[in-house]
Amino acid sequence: MLGALRDACLRAGVEIVTSAEVIGATPRGELRFANGETQRADLAVGADGIWSKVRETLGLELLHEQTLEGALRTMIPARPGDFAPEDTGKYIENWNGTRRLLITPVTQEHTYLALTCPSTDTAARNTRVDKSLWKASFPAWSHLIDRIGDEVSWGVYSTIKCKAWSSGRSVILGDAAHAQPPNLGQGGGMAMQNGLALATALQDVAAPQEIPDALERWERQERDIVEHCQKWSCLYGEVTFLPDEVRTTVIRSAMAHPWVAGQVFRAANHQPTGASVLFG
Ligand SMILES: Cc1cc2nc3c(=O)[nH]c(=O)nc-3n(C[C@H](O)[C@H](O)[C@H](O)COP(=O)(O)OP(=O)(O)OC[C@H]3O[C@@H](n4cnc5c(N)ncnc54)[C@H](O)[C@@H]3O)c2cc1C
Repeated sequence: MLGALRDACLRAGVEIVTSAEVIGATPRGELRFANGETQRADLAVGADGIWSKVRETLGLELLHEQTLEGALRTMIPARPGDFAPEDTGKYIENWNGTRRLLITPVTQEHTYLALTCPSTDTAARNTRVDKSLWKASFPAWSHLIDRIGDEVSWGVYSTIKCKAWSSGRSVILGDAAHAQPPNLGQGGGMAMQNGLALATALQDVAAPQEIPDALERWERQERDIVEHCQKWSCLYGEVTFLPDEVRTTVIRSAMAHPWVAGQVFRAANHQPTGASVLFG
């Protein structure tokens, strides 16, 4: 995905500079860099993730909360026969106590695994994955767990809320503005949807001085879907600490109700602003 984004940038004539650490931004559309340089543009975009310096220096943050739960994430090679025919191609969520194994088929060659647990579960969160321990929790998936590499990454989840997504001619985007726990698998999707909506909001801007108003219109239009998704992702996370049999009953009966399912999948089913221009 990063490769596709890079290629799209290059096609659009973007100059890509790596190893350029941003230390702050100003409402005048300026980005300040660790090497002492300052760059000024019609619009500065801080898509700099959960610890966003752009958000911090523009004074936009209301809340940054980290969850107790986190995830080990890895790709493993896929093999024929990994799944029963009725499960082939499906996303599968398994629970055992507070441990969770998420299985996502990606391509014919790769399957994505997320092994989640509370940060306090030090044996399970070890980045040199204790395969015996995880296999004991999820014996039906031992054949996949066996293929995990030597070392994987561990990350906890953040929820970020801001009083505004922009200040003057500087804006924050993606996790910098609205990170959410990955319980609905929508954080990256919302970052990209909102980026497209931002580009759409700016396409009719004729002069730089019109940008702050366009940013406010963009935020007014997009906040509802973004905050809806964030709220339901946080709510879904609440089931983590329920006993297994209660969790299963709660999830099954709640998801059987069309209103609840509609809320949970609303962001995934949402037609992003600007998508009709791209995809017709
Ligand atoms: C465990 C876990 C599982 C997830 N699963 C899913 C999923 O299934 N589906 C989904 O859609 N989303 C998922 N997400 C969320 C998804 O990863 C994020 O929402 C997405 O990566 C946000 O993209 P972003 O570009 O806003 O931020 P990031 O991906 O964090 O990118 C920020 C970039 O800014 C750079 N940067 C940071 N600070 C500076 C600085 N000072 N100067 C210069 N550069 C800087 C960083 O190096 C990084 O490259 C998951 C997240 C976690 C933690």
